[in-house]
Amino acid sequence: METEPVVTPAQTDPSHDTAWETALAQLDEVAELMGLAPGVHAILRSPKRSLSVSVPFRMDDGSTRVYQGYRVHHNVTRGPAKGGIRYHPEVGLDEVKALAMWMTWKCAIAGIPFGGAKGGVAVDPKELTRSELERMTRRYASEILPFIGPEKDIPAPDMNTNEEIMSWIMDTYSMNSGFSVPGVVTGKPVSIGGSKGRAGATSRGVMYMIFSTLKALGVGIDEVSVAIQGYGKVGGYAAQLLHDAGCRVVAVSDAEGGLYRDRGLDPEAINRHSREAGTVAGYGGAEPITNADLLEIDCDVLVPAAIEGVVTVKNADKVKARVVCEAANGPITFEGDKILHDRGVFVVPDILANSGGVTVSYFEWVQDIQAYFWDEEEVNDRLRLIMERAFDEVYDLAMAKGLSMRQAAHWIGVGRVAEAHLTRGLFP
Ligand code: NAD
Repeated sequence: METEPVVTPAQTDPSHDTAWETALAQLDEVAELMGLAPGVHAILRSPKRSLSVSVPFRMDDGSTRVYQGYRVHHNVTRGPAKGGIRYHPEVGLDEVKALAMWMTWKCAIAGIPFGGAKGGVAVDPKELTRSELERMTRRYASEILPFIGPEKDIPAPDMNTNEEIMSWIMDTYSMNSGFSVPGVVTGKPVSIGGSKGRAGATSRGVMYMIFSTLKALGVGIDEVSVAIQGYGKVGGYAAQLLHDAGCRVVAVSDAEGGLYRDRGLDPEAINRHSREAGTVAGYGGAEPITNADLLEIDCDVLVPAAIEGVVTVKNADKVKARVVCEAANGPITFEGDKILHDRGVFVVPDILANSGGVTVSYFEWVQDIQAYFWDEEEVNDRLRLIMERAFDEVYDLAMAKGLSMRQAAHWIGVGRVAEAHLTRGLFP
């Protein structure tokens, strides 16, 4: 399986700022550290297949709109491809490729038998009515239909997608099959085969990873202050869980702006405000701050839970938190990460920190296939076991080899996928 040595972005361009550049630079770095076979390295650098589709659909006024959509399978050597679908105006093929690659490592680190995928449509869903969103989703699902299926590729929610959108995809796939296929997507409502505990699983996993970190650092849960960027499905519920567990949540934000209160915010009051106003911004009981301020706020734990590339060479030296737990995918650029590491900031990498979502998605798929459903306590207990074990494996390797948590996580994830490749051999 040997090929020519890979020319890495690290050799050609020192500023890895896009998600794809970051993902490649992380892979290249760990490939060198672990002495990865060049042939396997070359295979893992390029996604297995990338689908680009146009998504035409009818607007309520009868006019036609066309958006660009994508679905990428980075790797399926360990099992069916798994990954969310994102609706965001800036979605592009390179971003989806990066997110799919991170899914591959994430599934391998959690030890679940999936490969990595991701999808997206370059759309601002806020500009569409509900019926337009449904027609757009059903058309996108139809365009990627040959790619997806319970044994092939199982989509899930991501930014700006939710349970309802998963229902429409499940229904579109099922109508084309002539029977119900619940296992084609995860993150569905419980009424059509969703798993109890899935909606809060990513946030719950983030909480478990913060607890594991604090334990490793010898710090009490009720001693820490937390700042959370992104008050969506992941960040919003993480704020509630961490507050309920005794942490002081001092800052939160969404795309419209942020809030700060040194004595701690009350997530329930913020939820009430945000349900009415559509944003956390404007909540009266706290000081307004910007998203840039939030990243640099004086706190113990920073949880970026929104978009990629928010901590870069430009602001990494201003981050005051002692721990950064990456609930979002790719919130720290490759070079930004080096600065945090050199400054002794403990970073729990995305491919470990936010793996609670895909782990309970795996439980959902297992329950759908077996048509046998678990109670929420069982889901949460199994999630905790898997995530704490993954944390310990990454932490022990990082300590043993003097690696960052990110390098150690990649080492384990890439190593497991590489092992599967080498065991199966190169076709033909
Ligand atoms: P979401 O759409 O529910 O919420 C996103 C939040 O980020 C919103 O509050 C939005 O206002 C905010 N936001 C958007 N742009 C922003 C900006 N420029 N600055 C600050 N805030 C901004 O999405 P989500 O499902 O909570 O996903 C958030 C992140 O977590 C993404 O990176 C996603 O890939 C990752 N993630 C999600 C899951 C999941 O199960 N949903 C699993 C793993 C990882």
